[in-house]
Amino acid sequence: MAPHATPQGLGEFDLIRQYFERPVRRAALGIGDDCALLQPGAGCQLAVSSDMLVQDRHFFADADPFQLGHKALAVNLSDLAACGASPLAFTLALALPAADAAWLAPFSRGLLALADRHGCELVGGDTTRGPLNICITVFGEVPAPAGRSQALLRCGARCGDDIYVSGTLGDARLALEAIRGEWTLPAALRKRACTRLHQPEPRVALGQALRGLATSAIDISDGLLGDLGHVLKASGVGARLDAPCLVDRMACHGPALDAVVPAEHQLRCVLAGGDDYELAFTAPADRRDAVAAAAQHSATPVSRIGTITARGGLQVVDAQGAAITGHWASFDHFC
Ligand code: ADP
Ligand code: MG
Repeated sequence: MAPHATPQGLGEFDLIRQYFERPVRRAALGIGDDCALLQPGAGCQLAVSSDMLVQDRHFFADADPFQLGHKALAVNLSDLAACGASPLAFTLALALPAADAAWLAPFSRGLLALADRHGCELVGGDTTRGPLNICITVFGEVPAPAGRSQALLRCGARCGDDIYVSGTLGDARLALEAIRGEWTLPAALRKRACTRLHQPEPRVALGQALRGLATSAIDISDGLLGDLGHVLKASGVGARLDAPCLVDRMACHGPALDAVVPAEHQLRCVLAGGDDYELAFTAPADRRDAVAAAAQHSATPVSRIGTITARGGLQVVDAQGAAITGHWASFDHFC
């Protein structure tokens, strides 16, 4: 069959059976009936989140289908991670221009490979013809002993808490700008940045390790400043971020990047780039050892980048404590 041909006779139900239906493992009932049935663990709450990926808005028409399958689930698992939830299952609502085997096979492989790594089972969805649109809803569980939820929320940051981020920031934005032709990066850097853009790793293990330790958490999808701003608003506090702890946060950081991209722009990518899918969280300053242990236990690098303040919005300060200003607007789909 020619590449990208539509296989004859591959109807909606054949398509679901061939690419998405697999033997049920954890769910009480998976694909095939009107509803899936899930049984959260005893004493657990369900954590639920949806994220949609729309062609030309979140990805390009020629996006690699394997990476797209990975990313569609990764951005959803990242929300579970931010709440400290353990993944259980997900549903997939898919609009497709055609039943294209050359696209469906790698898409489902990328999607299900990440699902398997996190023990997150595909239990249902909807499939229709239309412009390519991928909407996933994930279900996770969080312990709630005696009704007291251990979910990490945005509202618990307290004055004096440390502020942390996981992993690296800004590389996804750099990749986007390189793809648009705004920078010409050396091949190795471009590859590293593009991997961060197309195949983010949701910090699921870290989120779980932070239960009972982090006072607040959020995943960074629209940029550090904007997303941390949601935590500050929900918690009724301010923050001071230390620029020297931020400038080397990019995975691409180093002399090869410095030769092409001004330091000021690198900081902008870190602060307001978006598409990072790392966790930003706060924890009491006397729990630094416990945070280090959680990072080690989850094999996730974590960096301390600032402090929660009583009020005064969000400030970025230099090594001398002087405020730095810049154009750091976060990403907003309607601006
Ligand atoms: P209904 O019409 O009752 O909503 P459908 O006929 O759309 O059900 O789907 C049949 C079964 O296949 C259902 O169990 C549904 O959850 C599942 N399903 C449909 N599309 C997908 C998909 N893209 N991925 C996984 N399961 C799907
Ligand atoms: Mg349906």
